[in-house]
This record gives sequence, structure tokens and C-alpha cells, in this order.
Amino acid sequence: MNGNLKPDWIKQLLFIGGSLGLSLLFTYFFGFFVGFILNLVLFVGIIFYIRSRQSKALKSFGFSDERIGGGFLSGRTELKYSCLSCGSEVKGARCKKCGSNMKKPLF
Ligand SMILES: [Zn+2]
Repeated sequence: MNGNLKPDWIKQLLFIGGSLGLSLLFTYFFGFFVGFILNLVLFVGIIFYIRSRQSKALKSFGFSDERIGGGFLSGRTELKYSCLSCGSEVKGARCKKCGSNMKKPLF
């Protein structure tokens, strides 16, 4: 189920890229001042859009709202660990397969 997060993230990047292009168009057609204001509105809108999406996604994984606050665009929710002893994926403090707590993060 974690696999669903990655394409979502790419979509968000594309969304931000598209919005940047839009903001350039705004500035071009409406002049600097109006373009600047439209950029601000757009940017705040994007932040709220992403945060509301993230909080929905994270809530389904059981995260609290406080942890979402610091996690804006950091992608930390995708962090996984791999066991150094047996190589299997580790969720939580120690490996469920062999009991080792030696682990390395997977990026
Ligand atoms: Zn292990």
C-alpha cells in the first residue's frame, strides 16, 4: 500500500511545475504586481491542497495531525528500513524475522 504514495508525489511535483509555469504566464500577461499577487494566492492554494491530501493519506496510515505539520514535502512518510542481518524490510524498532535491531534506511 506504500507503493501508492510515490506516483502521488510525482503528480504533486508535476502540479507544482505546472503552477510555476502558470505563474510565469500570469506575470507575463498581467504585469508584475498582479502576477505576484496571483502567484501568492496560487502558492497558498497549492500548500493547502497538498497538506489536505497528505493529511488524508497519513490519517489512513494512523499518523496524527501533529506529525504532518513538520512533514510538508519532506517525503519522510516513505522512509523504510532494511534489516542488516537478513535483508528483509523492517517496520518499527526491530526486525520481525530475525529480531535484530540493526537496520539501514532505504531511499
Ligand atoms: Zn532481520
